[in-house]
Amino acid sequence: MSGGSERSRALAARAQRVIPGGVNSPVRAFRSVGGEPLFLARAAGSSVWDVDGNRYLDYLGSWGPMLLGHARPEILAAIQAAAVDGVSFGVSTEREVRFAELLTRIVPGLERVRLVNSGTEACMSAVRVARGATGRDRIIKIAGGYHGHADALLVRAGSGAETLGIPDSAGVPAGAARDTLVVPYNDLAAVEALFERHGPTIAAMIVEPVPGNMGTVAPLPGYLEGLRRITAAQGALLIFDEVMSGFRVALGGAQQRYGVSADLVCLGKVIGGGLPVGAYGGRAALMDLVAPSGAVYQAGTLSGNPLGVAAGLAMLELLEREDPYAQLERYAAALAEGLTAIARELGLPLCVNRVGSMLTPFFWAGPVTDLASAQRSDVARFAAFHRGMRQRGVLLPPSQFEAAFVSAAHSDEDLQQTLEAARETLRTL
Ligand SMILES: *Cc1c(COP(=O)(O)O)cnc(C)c1O
Repeated sequence: MSGGSERSRALAARAQRVIPGGVNSPVRAFRSVGGEPLFLARAAGSSVWDVDGNRYLDYLGSWGPMLLGHARPEILAAIQAAAVDGVSFGVSTEREVRFAELLTRIVPGLERVRLVNSGTEACMSAVRVARGATGRDRIIKIAGGYHGHADALLVRAGSGAETLGIPDSAGVPAGAARDTLVVPYNDLAAVEALFERHGPTIAAMIVEPVPGNMGTVAPLPGYLEGLRRITAAQGALLIFDEVMSGFRVALGGAQQRYGVSADLVCLGKVIGGGLPVGAYGGRAALMDLVAPSGAVYQAGTLSGNPLGVAAGLAMLELLEREDPYAQLERYAAALAEGLTAIARELGLPLCVNRVGSMLTPFFWAGPVTDLASAQRSDVARFAAFHRGMRQRGVLLPPSQFEAAFVSAAHSDEDLQQTLEAARETLRTL
């Protein structure tokens, strides 16, 4: 940290005049942790620098995409080379074929994949395919599960919505939300009960296999297997929203980590190496329902964009070659254990949830297994923790209901610095 915040403040004042709330995505306003504006200027490896020259160790990772850290030369070179060839054609390119081939090789069960521009589009489209395939309208989601901001999925949607205390958005027609049924995470009996009542009308259950948008929550043993069994028995599809967990909790995502296969998988975040890319896919028979081979319409002017695909290809090729998962696991485990140990020493109730390189400190004894238990956390304490860490040069996601992300660029020195900052901060709480 080198001091001031004048430039961030000045930019925030200008932004307030021309951008709603001064930000292009709600959580960026940092409201739930005190609202000190932050404008970043550049990033490299595990660090980001704000416009006032302050450096932070980054556990936000652009909300997930920067799994290898910032400014990896291979990804930058791929983007630059693609840009020279043409930034957008609106017509197919060779890179898209190579990317789809790579994705179908890496992601379990993916026989066909369609590229879109965001996780929101991926989830919205996968739900449409499920409804088209089954001829049923209802879907099940979990309380606190976030699947982007399509109307039908903005019900008990965690993340920014949960943070702001507006679990349902204004502007969503009752009709769009009517067919969305909600159950608590990690509760198979609740899913069974819904199928008992509404079985023949339920097209799919969409779920983050490892929820990250109510903070990180792990599936209890048998939960994902149970969802697989129940949906299959009911003729409904199981959609894994792996926009966050994909390529992060394992190269092949949660499907690979837990050995459970979904019918449709939604991808985003890491898949674009930091550029706006999403994807959804599954078995050929299902994905062939998508236009132009089938009757489920879905399209995109910039889908398969050359820059995004080049960045994504470079990212996934690096992940395959460098296999950073053991290192990510080690670092994140040491961080989680370190935080837990410090809190125990200080007699502070803290439950650190971690799956792979996703983690969240909840400020109560826990365990946190669903949205209700996540919401028992002392969010004022989380906000104070966030501010204290930020003052000490560590940037965490600015909400209790988000996952912190470790990258492969985080070093042992970073770990020590983070734990020292945490010790000093937790001592003040
Ligand atoms: C981020 C996220 C989305 C939405 O992706 P966008 O690219 O922000 O539209 C959907 N699902 C999950 C699980 C996410 O974490």
